[in-house]
Amino acid sequence: MTITLYDTLTRQKQPLVPADPGRVTMYVCGPTVYNRAHIGNARPAVVFDVLRRLLAHRYGREHVVYARNITDIDDKIIAAAVAGDVEIGTVTARYEQHYLDDMRALGVEDPDIAPHATQHIDGMVQMIGVLVERGVAYAAKDHVLFDVSAFPDYGKLSRRKLDEMIAGARVEVAPYKRGPADFVLWKPSADEQPGWDSPWGRGRPGWHIECSAMIRAVLGETIDIHGGGLDLIFPHHENELAQSTCANHGAPLARIWMHNGFLGMGAEKMSKSLGNVTLVSELLAAGWSGEVLRLALLSAHYRQPLEWNDNLLEQTKATLDRWQGFLRRSTEPATEVPERFVATLADDLNTPEAVAALARMSRLGDVGGMRAAMGMLGLLEPVTPEDAADTATINALVAARRAARAGKDFAESDRIRDELTAMGVVLEDGADGTSWRRG
Ligand code: AMP
Ligand code: ZN
Repeated sequence: MTITLYDTLTRQKQPLVPADPGRVTMYVCGPTVYNRAHIGNARPAVVFDVLRRLLAHRYGREHVVYARNITDIDDKIIAAAVAGDVEIGTVTARYEQHYLDDMRALGVEDPDIAPHATQHIDGMVQMIGVLVERGVAYAAKDHVLFDVSAFPDYGKLSRRKLDEMIAGARVEVAPYKRGPADFVLWKPSADEQPGWDSPWGRGRPGWHIECSAMIRAVLGETIDIHGGGLDLIFPHHENELAQSTCANHGAPLARIWMHNGFLGMGAEKMSKSLGNVTLVSELLAAGWSGEVLRLALLSAHYRQPLEWNDNLLEQTKATLDRWQGFLRRSTEPATEVPERFVATLADDLNTPEAVAALARMSRLGDVGGMRAAMGMLGLLEPVTPEDAADTATINALVAARRAARAGKDFAESDRIRDELTAMGVVLEDGADGTSWRRG
């Protein structure tokens, strides 16, 4: 089965043809760790987590290498450390942990490799040196800049014209720049700012070179899939592509470039700068389960905009409650993931169609298929034989309690309730009988 993915560079769906099916490589730009993730930030994390599960299904878990970086040096981090009067490392360690906790709550597995920018400075300095040597970068006033006019393909990923790129990058037109679209590879650090020695003086890297250097260090010159949100196409990925191609003797950086659309509220995309953010942690604290949030994030196709509102959450919760209630009442174990379901995801991650397929399986009473399919979406870990045995015991106890109550033997029904409580099972008596969940 071929996985087909929409490639931003060619603006077409492309079959995924990994360079080495024994080592399929994917890199997704990770967070800059100085604040809590909002639900828009969670969209790429969840989308690429689903893709990773699909790749694992197709190529084998041990043949997929997924890297997601941590940007732990950045002017916003420095500002946060100054504002809080703490060390930079305190800020980055705290928010990296928050990020991992928030994403795990959404069922996102940790990446195989999480390179930290500050641990790859040598590779960045080395790459910048090569770019200077090749004449595509130049040092000026303690900075090193990439000369976009030296790379004829500059703009081919974002398909922008140079004047749009200049406006889009909101680059300050510093007097030391040869061209207004030239971007920073290295910049000087003041004494109180974090910095590393380099041939161009004490300083720190620009954001774009971090990913180019880390990708090469942990995955290689050309990776199979490079991902992130739509806003990263320009300038971040355009610049990564330019730097890496020039530093790696023309080797393409990625076979397939993937970008998720924006999650928004009303007409606006959710973004810190617009001030319309809802944090993942706030949603969890408000009582929405990680699975509801995850399913809501997957309800739209990843390239489409996703409108986030309470209605979406309520609808999603109702659906998930129905499915989970249905699965809970059965001990039937997971089957293989249905081929059609896999094919749906293999068609450019068609998650809305996958969700519709789950609804169909639930109508048809296909418990085994649902368990497998939901596991593949990361909505439920596939049920182990022990879980299934537990479920059978619990169902039997719940039935015995119902019988005791019907026979007005309340001592017995209370005894059974206590036994279930001791097993960590929470009973919910409702109009249509008693349901239960693991507490
Ligand atoms: P940032 O912290 O802004 O660098 O964003 C981290 C990741 O989240 C990047 O891949 C962004 O493209 C993505 N992202 C940020 N805001 C949104 C949004 N509203 N909807 C979808 N993805 C987003
Ligand atoms: Zn990046």
